[in-house]
Amino acid sequence: MIEVRGLSKRYGDKVAVDDLTFTVRPGIVTGFLGPNGAGKSTTMRMIVGLDRPTAGTATVNGRPYAEHPDPLRQVGTLLEAKAVHTSRSARNHLLALAATHGFPRRRVDELLALVGLDQVATKRAGGFSLGMGQRLGIAAALLGDPKVLILDEPVNGLDPEGVRWVRELLKERAAAGCTVFVSSHLMSEMAVTAEHVIVIGRGRLLADTSVADLVAGASATAVRARTPQAARLAAALAGPDVTVEAVAPDVLEIRGLPSSRVGEVALAEQVVLYELTPLQASLEEAFMEMTADEVEFTAAPPPGAAVGAPGVGGRR
Ligand code: ADP
Repeated sequence: MIEVRGLSKRYGDKVAVDDLTFTVRPGIVTGFLGPNGAGKSTTMRMIVGLDRPTAGTATVNGRPYAEHPDPLRQVGTLLEAKAVHTSRSARNHLLALAATHGFPRRRVDELLALVGLDQVATKRAGGFSLGMGQRLGIAAALLGDPKVLILDEPVNGLDPEGVRWVRELLKERAAAGCTVFVSSHLMSEMAVTAEHVIVIGRGRLLADTSVADLVAGASATAVRARTPQAARLAAALAGPDVTVEAVAPDVLEIRGLPSSRVGEVALAEQVVLYELTPLQASLEEAFMEMTADEVEFTAAPPPGAAVGAPGVGGRR
């Protein structure tokens, strides 16, 4: 269990984390979502004592992280992609970590196999790709078979097979009773990995909800109707709380009525329908909507600049 209460962090004038309060429970995967710069990493670093809060507290299994006598058995962390800039081999990196914390050598070989690095275990970890570095970082996080996992963007740099592997691993750890807290800026990934999500923007809490509720809340009630008699249908549908938008000459998008009602009106008006589709906002859209005002850096062109003109949205 992770408990965050009134947690804030300022860097000079900049408020990176703004009065966050939430609880991460065992037994499920909890996603930590927000656009880049929202404060996810800073929050995670404060939870494990790498950054000092300006205000508030964070505890892991009832105590501040630093007060646990056996931190690696309590909490496994992956906080920076490629934290391992090392001339050591992957195996020696893990062996050193194991020796420092009193874990047996065989645990290292188990882990190398588990994360799929057994073939490259003797290669220099500093030369690893981002994805291999992530696997090594995850192996290190799992070393003490911890009850809590805190992983910052663990699927960054992984190929689709690696992404699926991390997803299964996290679900399996949660099913075994662990607390799993995993950040991402990708709603689509969290939608299939997490059962619960905490969403932040500009350091503030925007949502603390189950994925199921988020899906239900995101179900926009728009209906798309395709008909060669669009103008006639639009006129017949008009009403006080109904908006009808012609998105193409023969396609209407209707808000404020269920698809069944649109079908009934079409029948009464003798309008032929080629298509009648209830539209559901995707989770990604719900997330974009929720965080639209919270994005720190948007890619808007300078005023007056033509979109697509040379230099606009320039490469960095
Ligand atoms: P996220 O992980 O959601 O992308 P971060 O926690 O990395 O967000 O950053 C949150 C905000 O705090 C950003 O605006 C970032 O620039 C700022 N920030 C993070 N670390 C520092 C630091 N050491 N000094 C100054 N500003 C920082």
